[in-house]
Amino acid sequence: MEIKFIGTGSGKTSLKRYHSSFLINAETYNLLVDAGDGISRALIRQKVPFGTINGILFSHLHPDHYSGLPSLIVQMKMSERKDSLDIFCHESHADFLKEFLYQSYLFEEKLGFKLNFKPFEQKKKLDISAGLNFIARQNSHLEPNTRLDKSGRLSFICNSFLIRVKGKNIFYTGDIGDSSDLFLFEEQKIDFMISEITHVSIEELLDSFRRLKLEKLFITHLSEDDEAQVSKLSYQLPSAERRKIVAAFDGLNIKL
Ligand SMILES: [Zn+2]
Ligand SMILES: [Zn+2]
Repeated sequence: MEIKFIGTGSGKTSLKRYHSSFLINAETYNLLVDAGDGISRALIRQKVPFGTINGILFSHLHPDHYSGLPSLIVQMKMSERKDSLDIFCHESHADFLKEFLYQSYLFEEKLGFKLNFKPFEQKKKLDISAGLNFIARQNSHLEPNTRLDKSGRLSFICNSFLIRVKGKNIFYTGDIGDSSDLFLFEEQKIDFMISEITHVSIEELLDSFRRLKLEKLFITHLSEDDEAQVSKLSYQLPSAERRKIVAAFDGLNIKL
């Protein structure tokens, strides 16, 4: 049982870090969380065979979180995958993702494996496999864009997740709007938090680490500036805290 960081970079493409994604290995099920631009290369870099991924969970539809899906499915086809692939996305995103694949000429009857779309509703627990489930809640990441959608066609759903893996609660913030989103699951006991740092400050993250009494905080979605800020703060912390606040890097494994 482990979590492996596949990419820990921000929305800015970099040679050092792939875009933000991680893999939950829950004994009988491997769940990839987010699959943005470059995900196929990122998986090869981390020696994760495409065929071992059972499902993909999407937080929202910014390209650094979802746009690698068609190319990843092409790689799965070329590696002669036979097992079906689950796709967990918010119910308002399912039609678009299906159309995205269709417009990429990825016809299910030619793939050699089934695509199981499993749309979820927010605030409703969804069981994935034995000992693995999640609940999604809305955060404020996409709110500033709402006034720009003149066509009214867009969903402004952006999810943060409480993922339960074998008795541990993992809060994955996904991309958020501001520090209030760090407390979306405050009433729950959270063991690990995986948070982005692009839309909050390191001080706000430290405050949430203390208020939520986290066992560990993993910071991801990092630019080079963010990385410098995290290590600067880290030196000022008491050693007990320093060990529990970790700047994630591509390839980092967390044992659960
Ligand atoms: Zn992002
Ligand atoms: Zn985003």
